[in-house]
Amino acid sequence: MKPAIKIQNLKKNYGETVALKGVNISIKDGEFFGLLGPNGAGKTTTINILTGLVRKDEGVTEIFGKDIVSDYRFTRAQVGISAQEFTQDWFFPLDRLLYFQAGYYGIPKEKAKDQVNELLVRLGLEEKRSSRLRQLSGGMKRRFQIAKALVHDPKILILDEPTAGVDVKLRHELWEYFRELHNAGKTILLTTHYIEEAELLCDKVAIIDKGQVIKEGSPKSLTRQSGKSGINISLSDENIDFESVLSDFTFTNNEGELHFTTKEPEENLPKIINLLTNAGCHIQRVETTKSSLEDVFLSLTGKGINE
Ligand code: ADP
Repeated sequence: MKPAIKIQNLKKNYGETVALKGVNISIKDGEFFGLLGPNGAGKTTTINILTGLVRKDEGVTEIFGKDIVSDYRFTRAQVGISAQEFTQDWFFPLDRLLYFQAGYYGIPKEKAKDQVNELLVRLGLEEKRSSRLRQLSGGMKRRFQIAKALVHDPKILILDEPTAGVDVKLRHELWEYFRELHNAGKTILLTTHYIEEAELLCDKVAIIDKGQVIKEGSPKSLTRQSGKSGINISLSDENIDFESVLSDFTFTNNEGELHFTTKEPEENLPKIINLLTNAGCHIQRVETTKSSLEDVFLSLTGKGINE
């Protein structure tokens, strides 16, 4: 099976500004893929090239094995994009805008009607179907963008910072909806600078910085590699010979406060607790700390993702 999205050695300059230095990404059919990076990293440029809004300088860009330029009719029909910037269609009501969008993709009238109604309901915009975009709140505009991306039922959904500027409640509702779409088989490419969003939703993430992918993998494998995870245990028995009880583990002991550096805190915690209780220790407090993709980014670039 050809990848849903294949990007190889993708390069783009805007005059003097080098936006993409040779990006490589391959996204499987049905995968939830995150492009995670700070502002200015090249995320929007990458997806704008994929959707034909920006012209690439060099590189391969394919959707299900077809070139996005020479086979643009096919490739565009496969993709729906929810752009970061809001659409500026102020004159028509929401439902008309969605019908127009469906018409643009050649969806038959009856099918378009059903699809529009279903999306308006699912995204909580039913009551606003006759409103104009300027009458909507920021969160509603965001939901409209997503409805517009889905109206032709594309196989691939591209979400560019889909939860930027929305409140916490809506963010969680949208995450739930994205999961539902993913479970229904859609391939999703999400760009975000929210670490939590990428960690929670994505099967795989590519961390992008200064126009280059600097690391790729599942959030779990990446955070494991960063090796910042640990376990802290407080004990009331400072006189026990912890070195021999816990000879299989690397740890520091600060007056009964044990700190373990381990890549798999969940797996090691029960073993450590067992050894300590068998040795007759009294455990007062246990805490695990997990490294996040932020730590991964920090260790790769020396700075935080949102700095
Ligand atoms: P991101 O989406 O990760 O924030 P962008 O793809 O928007 O990053 O930007 C990548 C780089 O390209 C940045 O340095 C940005 O300033 C520059 N850039 C993006 N769009 C344009 C444009 N239309 N003209 C000039 N420079 C641009």
